[in-house]
Order: sequence, then C-alpha cells, then structure tokens
Amino acid sequence: MTCPESRILLHAFLDDELDPVRSFEVQSHLDGCPGCAREHAAQRSLRCALRDEALYFRSPVGLETRVRAALGTQRATERGPGRLGAMMAFLQMRRAWLPAAAAVAVLAVSVTTIWKVGVPPRGESADDLGQEVVADHVRSLMAGHLTDVPSSDHHTVKPWFNGRLDFSPPVKDLKEEGFALVGGRLEYLAGRPVAALVYQRRLHVINLMTWPAPGDPDRPPAAATHQGYHALHWTQGGMNYWAVSDLNEEEMKQFVGLVQR
Ligand SMILES: [Zn+2]
Repeated sequence: MTCPESRILLHAFLDDELDPVRSFEVQSHLDGCPGCAREHAAQRSLRCALRDEALYFRSPVGLETRVRAALGTQRATERGPGRLGAMMAFLQMRRAWLPAAAAVAVLAVSVTTIWKVGVPPRGESADDLGQEVVADHVRSLMAGHLTDVPSSDHHTVKPWFNGRLDFSPPVKDLKEEGFALVGGRLEYLAGRPVAALVYQRRLHVINLMTWPAPGDPDRPPAAATHQGYHALHWTQGGMNYWAVSDLNEEEMKQFVGLVQR
C-alpha cells in the first residue's frame, strides 16, 4: 500500500469501517511508515479531543418548554417526546411556513402591481402622488439607481428618452445657474412611465419627474413635504412636473423657477 492510499483509507480505518483484509493492509503500512503513523496518531487524538464533554453545550433549562409552547402543545405531542422530536417539528413547521410566506409575498406584489396599474393618474390625489414621488426619489439615491443615462449634456439626455417614452421631456441645462444636470432615467409613476431628470446642487440630488398632462391648464407650483423631503408640483404647457429633494425650500423654489422659465 502506498502513502496516498493509506491516507485515503485512514478515516475509514479509524472508524473501523474497513473489511479485515483492507484493515490489515492499512495497519501493516502504518507499522512500517512513520509519516502515516504520525498522521494516524494525530487523527486519533483529534477524535478523542472532539469527544471531550467540555465541547458540548447543554441546552438551558426551559428551552424545550419554550419550543413546545411556540409549536403548540398538540403538535409537540404528535411528534412525541424528546428534544430532537421537538426540534424536528419546529424545523418542519418552518419549512412548511416558508413557501406559504413566499406565496403571500408574491401575491402582495401582484396586488400592488395591479393596484398601481389600475389607478388612473388623475384619480390619485396630490398627496398620494407626493408620497410616491418621494419614495421614487429615495429609491433613486440607492446605489446604482440614480441614472440610466449619466450625462451632464442635455443633448445626450433628451434623445436618450426617444423610443423609451411616448413623449419627449423638456431637458434644461442649468449648470450656469448652479444646478448641474447629472443625467436621466425612466421612472414609473402615477400608473405610467415618466421621465426623471436628475440635477445636483452641492451635495443634494434633485429629481425632476415629467410626464404629459394633455388638456390640463397651467397650474402654479404647490409645495408639499413628505418624510422631510421637499416636493413641488405644477403643470405647464401640457406637462406635469414634480421636483423633489432634501434641498431647502428656498433653493427648491429657485430651481423650479429656472425650470419654468
Ligand atoms: Zn505512509
């Protein structure tokens, strides 16, 4: 027997799982090979160490009672006595519970989606829309979601929406005025895809959402605050506008004035 062969069989040898012939071959090799004999001795002392009582953790008094209480007495008696039985029942309950939870989550998402699609844009109050706008704004600030087309050039950002939206959003370059264009992305708002233009003022991000409001008269900006974010919305030239940021109200109004100009 070679050393690699003996090393492969060593664990089975220690567990007394080899047939007598194999076992004899390993023992003969160990008798004549100091290297493998050392490995054998090391493995054996490791096994002894692992049997040490100090390594075992006794469950605290009352744990079984608490697990049983969580499962319900009936279930616990069904599974019979013993800690293993209770634990298995607990694990099985979790396993049964997980697909159900997943189904509920999928259903909730579906219902939300149907709800969102089903809501006509005009049926939604400004307050609901404001919360939706703020939620979109917050989501956009999460890593990698701010822009689909990162560009400070409105000649790049505006054409990017061609073919992605059924309208062409007005895109203004306001860098000279201190509001740098950062880019644009598609957003889903008020039950439809809208254009989101992203501007930056110092370290503050401003999202400007735009979509058509066919036939609607012009309306002056109205301010709202949701979760500490300032949102201003208005209608101009047959377009809806929502501007949202954590920027102070004064500078937000300045920004809106520039967009409206
Ligand atoms: Zn050997």
